[in-house]
Amino acid sequence: MKSKVKKQDQSYDCDVCIIGAGPAGLACLSALREPYSMDNLTDEQLNRANNSLSLKANKKSNLNICVLDPSPQWMDTWKTQFDQLQIKHLRSPVLGHPDIFDNKALLTYARHHNREDELFESGCAEMKQLHGLGETQTGLWKLPSTKLFVDFCDDMTGRLKHVYLQGRAMDVEDSSSGDSSHVLKWEDASGVMNVLTVKHIIVASGVMGKALVPFGLEKCPNVFSWRSNHAFTNLKATQSIDAGTPPESPRQNIRVLVVGGGLTAVQTALRVIKEHKDDDIDMQCILCSKRTLKEKHFDIPVEWFDRRHQTGLLSGFYHESVEDRLQQLKDIRDGGSVPKMYMKQLKKYEKQMTYWMGQVEYDCQNDLAQEHNEGDDNIKTTIRYQGDYHQFDRIILACGVTPDCASNPFVSNILKKWKLPIHEGFPDITEDLQWKESTNSTKQNRTPSIFVSGAMAGLQVGPDAGNLMGMRRAATTIASALDCRSWLRATTLVNRFEAFGYSSDEESSSSLDENDEDSNFTGKKSFTTESITQSEDNCSTCCSCDSERGDCPVTVPKFVSVQLNGE
Ligand SMILES: Cc1cc2nc3c(=O)[nH]c(=O)nc-3n(C[C@H](O)[C@H](O)[C@H](O)COP(=O)(O)OP(=O)(O)OC[C@H]3O[C@@H](n4cnc5c(N)ncnc54)[C@H](O)[C@@H]3O)c2cc1C
Repeated sequence: MKSKVKKQDQSYDCDVCIIGAGPAGLACLSALREPYSMDNLTDEQLNRANNSLSLKANKKSNLNICVLDPSPQWMDTWKTQFDQLQIKHLRSPVLGHPDIFDNKALLTYARHHNREDELFESGCAEMKQLHGLGETQTGLWKLPSTKLFVDFCDDMTGRLKHVYLQGRAMDVEDSSSGDSSHVLKWEDASGVMNVLTVKHIIVASGVMGKALVPFGLEKCPNVFSWRSNHAFTNLKATQSIDAGTPPESPRQNIRVLVVGGGLTAVQTALRVIKEHKDDDIDMQCILCSKRTLKEKHFDIPVEWFDRRHQTGLLSGFYHESVEDRLQQLKDIRDGGSVPKMYMKQLKKYEKQMTYWMGQVEYDCQNDLAQEHNEGDDNIKTTIRYQGDYHQFDRIILACGVTPDCASNPFVSNILKKWKLPIHEGFPDITEDLQWKESTNSTKQNRTPSIFVSGAMAGLQVGPDAGNLMGMRRAATTIASALDCRSWLRATTLVNRFEAFGYSSDEESSSSLDENDEDSNFTGKKSFTTESITQSEDNCSTCCSCDSERGDCPVTVPKFVSVQLNGE
């Protein structure tokens, strides 16, 4: 059926449309709304920012921001995947969250609501690599409970001003107005097509790509992704070949194959076992991974989350060629890993769990399931492993995704229209995380202003782009690129020492030392020290003299473009 096109009310015209209401989108909303991020400022700069904030009118941005997602509420995808695997705690520490103002915000929220008992000590603070990092003593490396994290995010969405539109972004067109805006077409829940005039688009639409499926299993009738609602249901149905026969007695022997070698596969296997441990059945779960399970606290090396090392690692990453960055994105994750606490759980259920290492294959020729109706839950599927045949009631895949932004229909449409550059499925973006201009962009057919956040921004954000930590950095970069932090240049990021003839602000430059615990800047982009004329009403340059505007002797460094990141 053809969708109807409805012109929305003017109030839906917006400066920025965030596509995706997950943590990456929420981090962007926070970065666009908050006046600054404490992550990026030294103590001295924070004082200056606070002084300036109290002197001036509200510095919160006046941007008109809307958020678009097919789900009725924020964080639905996150909640669904955590529910599906019954995950009680996040894998990442409490310092990873979408509140850009303060990286201690989630810890503070837990304390303020007397919910510190929901912070789990995973033992990661004992890691040798984290020795000497003060934050490990303050609780910032504990793991928040799923409920605490979701409540915290709900609290954020309630206080950050935005318009939430329930719908799916479908396409973008040039606007006829002649300015830089574009028309975004989106489909609402009832299938009606709407339009929205936007200046900037932020694609925060999660991981895009095709699920990896082991050889031949794509043809197999009884295979489900761990995300599927059917993956865990009806495992207790009777083994009836006639679909019309009602269930009689529980099956005695149920065998489930879970394929994958990372945490998601382990969580899937654990859910299967735990859910049936008290049932009157013999449940066997086989976990098949291409290689031995690797025990690690985090999915990428801990140094990427440690601000003392992050600067150096990022700097190394940025200096690589695109090909080498793509390789690093694969190598650093290294096919998945499993935290110690989950390894312990696997051990606890070792009677019900068998571990296979290698490849499984689906053999159509030898499969009994071929004789039964497709979609019938009560069939056994024959799988070949190391030359032997095995039958399974259910096969659940958790093998990951091959990145491919073109697999998202909205992105695919704009790729076709503007021929935007991509590298092995990742958008080719600038240091500001803006999708590069297309080669066929003309005055009549201008490339829209599109920013990318989340996993798909990996080529510029680094291997943690799809993690909460990387999303924070990405959001701050985008807010800087959209000039939301410009007021800081004149008031906070001032080189006070230049008035005395020094060429650098020692407080700031010392923080570039990656071994310094107070190190904050990534130093990804530098600024020039060219003077600019002060244009504020009061002197906000040095925050310590009574000069009228323009009379303050302190020169202000002019930023070419500022990267305010580095946690
Ligand atoms: C089981 C699991 C556990 C994880 N645990 C952690 C963890 O503990 N710590 C951590 O740092 N990371 C974790 N991750 C990784 C990552 O943080 C999550 O995957 C996170 O949900 C990604 O956030 P996101 O906002 O990029 O994407 P999502 O949460 O997937 O949100 C993207 C949103 O975009 C919407 N969307 C897509 N296309 C369109 C469109 N055309 N129009 C409108 N909306 C659209 C989707 O509906 C979705 O709601 C985990 C991942 C998984 C799968």
